[in-house]
Amino acid sequence: MKAWESNIRRVVPYTPGEQPDKTKMIKLNTNENPYPPAPGVAGALRELAADRLRLYPDPTAGVLVDAIAAEMGLAPEQVFVGVGSDDVLAMCFLTFFNSGKPILFPDITYSFYDVWADVFRIPYETQPLNERFDIVPEDYYKENGGVIFPNPNAPTGVECPQEDIEDILRHNPDVIVIVDEAYVDFGARSALPLLEKYDNLIVVQTFSKSRSLAGMRIGYAMASPELIRYLNDVKYSFNSYTMDQTALAAGVASLADRQYFENTTRRIIATRERTKERLHALGFSFRDSRSNFIFATHKNCPAKELFAALRKQDIYVRYFDKPRIDNYLRITIGTDEEMDVFLDFLERYLADRKHNDCMTRN
Ligand SMILES: *Cc1c(COP(=O)(O)O)cnc(C)c1O
Repeated sequence: MKAWESNIRRVVPYTPGEQPDKTKMIKLNTNENPYPPAPGVAGALRELAADRLRLYPDPTAGVLVDAIAAEMGLAPEQVFVGVGSDDVLAMCFLTFFNSGKPILFPDITYSFYDVWADVFRIPYETQPLNERFDIVPEDYYKENGGVIFPNPNAPTGVECPQEDIEDILRHNPDVIVIVDEAYVDFGARSALPLLEKYDNLIVVQTFSKSRSLAGMRIGYAMASPELIRYLNDVKYSFNSYTMDQTALAAGVASLADRQYFENTTRRIIATRERTKERLHALGFSFRDSRSNFIFATHKNCPAKELFAALRKQDIYVRYFDKPRIDNYLRITIGTDEEMDVFLDFLERYLADRKHNDCMTRN
């Protein structure tokens, strides 16, 4: 072993869902939006003059911060933007989780949290969701260095009631509590109104899911001006120009078309409700999802088998080989047509399987 090897920051990285490069596939594995971004985004991108790229972008990302603040009814001083909410969340970990005490998050949750904790050397303790996959607020009463959870939770899709969020906030006045609202636009209630009451709350949202801009990388945090100032201090100590000119233009154009945003999210919610009915009829069970995915288990066919069978058909869903959730599939809501192909295949597969099963038993 070389001497320098002991000085290397070693981490086990986050594993993103696969991005297969196939023309004919149904991709329901990374919670992307099946619809294109608002039409104005394409227009804004076309109008970008290449010559302007010789200049650095505005380090304050002012146009985008202002547009987000206006949309959310906040002051621009209450908004921080970053390269997707992954970047925003990483900056939050670096900025606010420095007490030496363990931070708390659920045992079943976004699998980036433990990776950031590890890379920044932040101690953490996971708190088990109950058997119905709910967050148990009492688990977050103990002394800690901060709290983070997604709402709705990922990959379960389960919404944490506002009373429970407020209960967690009330019991944690001395640390920062982050609510990661990556999926909130698909029918859940945002914790944003609680900002007025709790100066230790940070709400993080993203353009990746409900605004169809996963490829553009835009996320944002909303909090008190004081917390946003601390976040910016860390950002400017790391990389001042996080938001490139393209992202600024695309983000502003997306926010300008509220009607389109509402139409597409409403459509996805309608498709989700339809999908729930058919999945139920096929023998799946799941908690009510308030996100753009359904986390489902089948009464007799193992999730791992279904995952492999779907994959053979170039239908991609997400499977996590982890304790407590290794018999579940996380199914992103696509278009109605995509969901029909997916559900029709499942119907045939499960019927054939049942038939073969009966044959071997006879
Ligand atoms: C998708 C997701 C994110 C990150 O999204 P970005 O594309 O980085 O904005 C953050 N948290 C959760 C729970 C997510 O599912």
